[in-house]
This record gives sequence, C-alpha cells and structure tokens, in this order.
Amino acid sequence: MRIRLNLECPRCGGALFMEEDDKNVSVYCIRCGLRVSWKLRDAARRAVKNIDGSLIFDWSSVIDELYLELTINH
Ligand SMILES: [Zn+2]
Repeated sequence: MRIRLNLECPRCGGALFMEEDDKNVSVYCIRCGLRVSWKLRDAARRAVKNIDGSLIFDWSSVIDELYLELTINH
C-alpha cells in the first residue's frame, strides 16, 4: 500500500508518501530519499486506540509522529 500524503518533505519540499508492507510502515520523499520507518508492531502499539470497545488503528497519529521524526532527523 502506498499513499501520497498532503505533506511536504522538510528537507527539499518534495512530495511525501507513506508505504506499508508486511513488516514496516514508512514515510519517505520521492525526490531526495529522506525516509523514516517503524516496525508495524511499534506503529500498532502507538496507534491502536480503544474507542467505545472497538480497536481503531489511528493512521493520522502515526503519520504525525513519523513526520515529526522526519523533521527532527533531516
Ligand atoms: Zn525530500
């Protein structure tokens, strides 16, 4: 799965994408290659929320945190 994010690369201003495979979730820039990845298990630990007894995977909070990490690391 690959999704174009409505965010710009903090280093070069290029388009950012989010990609998920069976092990990792990553946010990366297609222009300069800046990238940050989390293991899915870690992402799930941070993102799964219990809302009225249903477990919800909150992608937006994962994207926010990955983007923050990208900004710090760039
Ligand atoms: Zn970039």
